[in-house]
This record gives sequence, C-alpha cells and structure tokens, in this order.
Amino acid sequence: MLGITFLGNRELELREFADPTPSPRDVVLEIKASGMCGTDLHAYRREFKGTEHFIAGHEPCGVVVALGEHVTESEAKVGDRVMVHHYDGCGNCRHCKSGWSQLCDEGPTVYGSGQGHGAHARYMAAAAHTLVPLPEDLSFMTGAAISCGTGTAYGALKRVGLEGDETLAVYGQGPVGLSTTQFGAEMGAHVIAIETSPERRELALEKGAHAVIDPTDVDPVEAIKELTHGEGAHKVVETAGVSQARTAAVKGTRKWGTCCFIAGGGELTFMVGPDLVFRQVTLVGHWTFSKNGQADCARFVSDRKIDVDSVFTHQFKLEQADEAYKLLDQQKTGKGVFLPS
Ligand SMILES: [Zn+2]
Ligand SMILES: [Zn+2]
Repeated sequence: MLGITFLGNRELELREFADPTPSPRDVVLEIKASGMCGTDLHAYRREFKGTEHFIAGHEPCGVVVALGEHVTESEAKVGDRVMVHHYDGCGNCRHCKSGWSQLCDEGPTVYGSGQGHGAHARYMAAAAHTLVPLPEDLSFMTGAAISCGTGTAYGALKRVGLEGDETLAVYGQGPVGLSTTQFGAEMGAHVIAIETSPERRELALEKGAHAVIDPTDVDPVEAIKELTHGEGAHKVVETAGVSQARTAAVKGTRKWGTCCFIAGGGELTFMVGPDLVFRQVTLVGHWTFSKNGQADCARFVSDRKIDVDSVFTHQFKLEQADEAYKLLDQQKTGKGVFLPS
C-alpha cells in the first residue's frame, strides 16, 4: 500500500509500505477518512530529515478488517466502524488507566507522529484498546475530525466547564477554533470569535458565533469588553498559538474567569499581578482529550446532530498529498481530509 511520509523542509513522499498485519493485541483498520491537523505542519516544516519513515495522519477513522489473536470480542469485531484514540501507552500507569494515554509515564506512542504509523494510507494497525466506536449516524469524516482537532475543541470546553449562560471568546478560527465556536454555541454560550482572516470570520458566523472581531482592526481585549458589559469573557479558548493572541486571551478573561491554551509551541508574556493574580484568573493548559472524552464528543455530535463535516473544505486522494499539504501550509482554508478507500 502507499503511505504519506514527511521528509522535512516541506517535502513529503508517497512511499510503498507492506500492508500491515495485526500483532496479537492489534487490529487492522481499512481507513475511510484520515484528517489533516495543524500539528502535522510541525513535522512537515521541520528542518531535520529523519532516517525513520512513519506514515503520517493522526485522525484515523475506518472499519476493522483484521484482528490480532488476543483481541477479545468486547474490544473489536471485523466490520466495526471506529475512530482511534491515537496514543498507545503502557496500559498500566494511572494515566493510561484513566484513558489519558498521551500522558503515559512510559511515554506514549503517538500514531502518525514519527513514533508509529498513522492513517494516511489504505490500512493502519492500531492497538485494540485505542479504538473508540463511531456512532452509526456519524460519517467517517466526522469521526476523523473528532479523532484530533474537533475532539480537542470539545475537550477544551469541558475542561473550562463552559456553561450556557456564559460568554466564550475563541482566539483563532482555524479548524480547531471553528469547532470550538460551533460547540460553544451549541452548548448555549454567547460566542465571540477572534480571527484575522475575513474568510474564517465568515465561517465562524456560519458556525454560530454571535460576534466576530478582527484583531488587526481593533484591540480584541477592548472589543470583548464592549461586548460583555465591560467585564470580559467568562471562558476563553486560545487556539492560534500566536504570542499576541495569547496575551490578549489572558487580558480579555474576566475576573474569576478561565483562559485555556490548547496549541503547543511559542511563548506567553503577561503581568502576573495585574493580569492574573489580582483578577483571580485561572490559566489552563489542555492537550486533546481522553479516550472517554472522545467517545463523549461523538455522542454529543450525534445527539445534537451537529454538522461537523462542514469544517472540511477540501477532500483529497493520497496521490494529492503534495498539493494537500502545500495548501494546509498556507493556513488559510478550512480542514482537509484524505479518503484513502
Ligand atoms: Zn501508561
Ligand atoms: Zn492533531
């Protein structure tokens, strides 16, 4: 089969790999949808040309086609429609046992990250315990989104404990920010979306944002205060990973409010006293979601009939990998997905 691998320096290769066979605790999935995530850009852009080549793609969704000999019927059956919680840990430490295998004390294997093969291929092997059922009424594309970007949006909103009578400010309206806006509005909050791109501000309004702010035009902290009776947002989720946005995110959080960072990389500068301590602000770092959180997100989307597919603006065949990542690299569009089978 063919699989997409990143070579560094914005180069990638569609390379021939052997079809995977399941080791005793694994299953093999036929991949129906494999999402592209902003995190992929770190591997795509890095300067180092690795010698090991793993298949990229950490938003896997597909159908179980083969079982390892020790996989039990309660774990998986051939024909199951599944997502993958894309971190395989030791299974024994407290974090693995609570479904947070990305925090594994032994260090997790992250599928599609340069540690384990991912889903940008026709088939993928995954540990049976990483599978999360995909509800019948959800598409494979929706399942792929929930497997990282959109699931992270849900995880962040649960982490900050968003309530329906609160104001939520979302910095950045890329795919994760857009899902945060969409879910926040669906949870009943008053949502303010902050984004420099006019196309993405328009998408945010379509997804339920009650107000949009262009931070190149106005001071977003002042603009949020104007929209919140001078107080600031109860809950803030920062998805852009940009230093100015992060500082504004903290400053635009109201007294007793919570500000959550979900993008890695970069730095944050703020005045500890006036921006944080003397306003009783809570700062939270949040990494994706637990395995149970992923299942909860899928049920939420199913119960509310939320149109997650519409975060995808581009569908690709594996053979279009080069074009697909050149487009993602510009960070102007909605989300892309590979449909390998
Ligand atoms: Zn562990
Ligand atoms: Zn991701």
